[in-house]
Amino acid sequence: MNFESFVRDLLLVRQYRVEPLIDKNKIEERLDLVESFVEDSELRQSCQEDLLRRFPDLNRLAKKLQRQSANLQDCYRVYQAVGQLPGLVLALERHTGKHQILLNAAFISPFKDLISDFSKFQEMIETTLDMNQIEHHEFLVKPSFDPTLSELRENMDQLEKNMQATLNSAARELGLDAGKTVKLESNAQMGYYFRVTCKEEKNLRNNKKFTTLDVQKNGVRFTNSKLSSMNEEYIKNREEYEEAQNAIVKEIISIAAGYVEPLQTLNEVIAQLDAVVSFAVVSHAAPVPYVRPRILEKGSGRLILKGARHPCVEAQDDVAFIPNDVTFTRGEQMFHIITGPNMGGKSTYIRQVGVIVLMAQIGCFVPCDEAELSVVDCVLARVGAGDSQIKGVSTFMAEMLETAAILRSATEDSLIIIDELGRGTSTYDGFGLAWAISEYIATRLKSFCLFATHFHELTALAQQVPTVCNLHVTALTTDSTLTMLYRVRNGVCDQSFGIHVAELANFPKHVIANAREKALELEEFQDISRVDKEGVDAGPEAKRRCMEKQEGEKIIEAFLAKVKSLPVEGMTDEAIKAELCKLKAEVVIQNNSFVNEIVSRAENVKMVSV
Ligand code: ATP
Repeated sequence: MNFESFVRDLLLVRQYRVEPLIDKNKIEERLDLVESFVEDSELRQSCQEDLLRRFPDLNRLAKKLQRQSANLQDCYRVYQAVGQLPGLVLALERHTGKHQILLNAAFISPFKDLISDFSKFQEMIETTLDMNQIEHHEFLVKPSFDPTLSELRENMDQLEKNMQATLNSAARELGLDAGKTVKLESNAQMGYYFRVTCKEEKNLRNNKKFTTLDVQKNGVRFTNSKLSSMNEEYIKNREEYEEAQNAIVKEIISIAAGYVEPLQTLNEVIAQLDAVVSFAVVSHAAPVPYVRPRILEKGSGRLILKGARHPCVEAQDDVAFIPNDVTFTRGEQMFHIITGPNMGGKSTYIRQVGVIVLMAQIGCFVPCDEAELSVVDCVLARVGAGDSQIKGVSTFMAEMLETAAILRSATEDSLIIIDELGRGTSTYDGFGLAWAISEYIATRLKSFCLFATHFHELTALAQQVPTVCNLHVTALTTDSTLTMLYRVRNGVCDQSFGIHVAELANFPKHVIANAREKALELEEFQDISRVDKEGVDAGPEAKRRCMEKQEGEKIIEAFLAKVKSLPVEGMTDEAIKAELCKLKAEVVIQNNSFVNEIVSRAENVKMVSV
């Protein structure tokens, strides 16, 4: 892809990406166009490798024309671009696929209209521009266009001939070869001069007939009186030519400025063709070709992807990508919690679903074996820690702000993707938030949602809300190895393998050993909760803590029941406060370590807020 085509494509595709389509018919229309190019490889290749590359950045040219800051070269580039249209139309007309009528309406017919809109412009450029000089990269008005210019051009041609003759006599005088060891050259500042290489400079020395102009790496520039006077005359002529030409150039530019609107239209149609061709190219050239998604009306409540892949991860040379399925059906499976080891592919899995939905709704084919999806009204993602310290917002605060925005704007037709929510604060607060947010999405918003997490406790939500499903990414482990399988399966994975991953990252051995020890200590506490359910034997300390926790929960329940039953309506604020203090004192006096922990945390929070 050349640079102009890249910029054009980038701008439009960026716009497509920011504003994906939500009208099913429009999506189907764009998919039809992409399909035409996917199926017609000759047309696709010639557009991508040849025809579209011939178009410059028309938007920039239109702006220059609008500002009247264009020059003759810009006008010539517009002329050249319009001149490419008949070839493009011919190539598009050769297509005989099933979307021929659409191709005609989207591209062929607008291009034909543009050819006729620009016919007068093309004529103007052909009559005014000196096409012979363009070969030498000079953009000049044709001398024959104006009698003054013809006269000046004749003079200049004659002067050029005479100067050439002077070169021959100078060469004889210096004992050098004209055109070889001594040359006649010109540039915009000095006009015409002779040049010898530094090696031949000795021939010039002490010859009073020649005057050295300057000495450079590539030789010595010099002149003599004859050349100098002819050069003066030539420069004068050239200035007059430019002056005479300037008036005509101004006229040409001001006429060209009247073509800004059709030029912008041309830019838009070419950019759309460019984007559609690019979609077809990536769809065809991917490691496994993309497929056309089946689009369902918004509100159909289905999102089913079979063999879905992440388009960027699979494009990496060293990755053998493992495809996975995803199924959302309204009323059955709408909220997927994904657990599993670090580096197991959770983020990749949830992000690929977002990317695929976005790709489908901008009208591109998708990296799946099969895809069926209802149009979503938006894809809302809370992924990665985009630090915003510069904006005065901490990482955790940024996470909360983004999540709050998601909760405010999502509907049941939105797709929400949440990666690792609640990791930036204490485990308890983080888990509490993750649970509450998940429950809100699953029961109130009812959006399509993928939630990757290391809070394994969150998977219990599936027992409370029927539309919540647990998925996990799989891995094989031995004591010393960890092999990721990247397969997404139903059910829960209750291990994170974080220490294994740290080992893979070459941590010092004693740090790993210490981490294992600490993890074991903490796990002990978790094991306790299984004691009753599964009859697993735990240590005495763990058992004691388990009992404390269960007792503590009962104390809190009783406290909350008493608070709820307070007849607050007939009470003053002071009386309520006093009653609450009494109830709290009753709780504190029971000296339960689990409750004490919660009370001290609550007091800390109070202190911070004060
Ligand atoms: P963490 O919990 O540590 O954030 P994660 O489970 O989110 O990890 P990812 O970041 O999704 O893991 O994946 C880690 C790497 O694994 C990716 O960069 C990619 O190279 C590879 N990977 C992920 N999914 C697949 C897949 N389906 N097939 C092949 N490779 C994959």
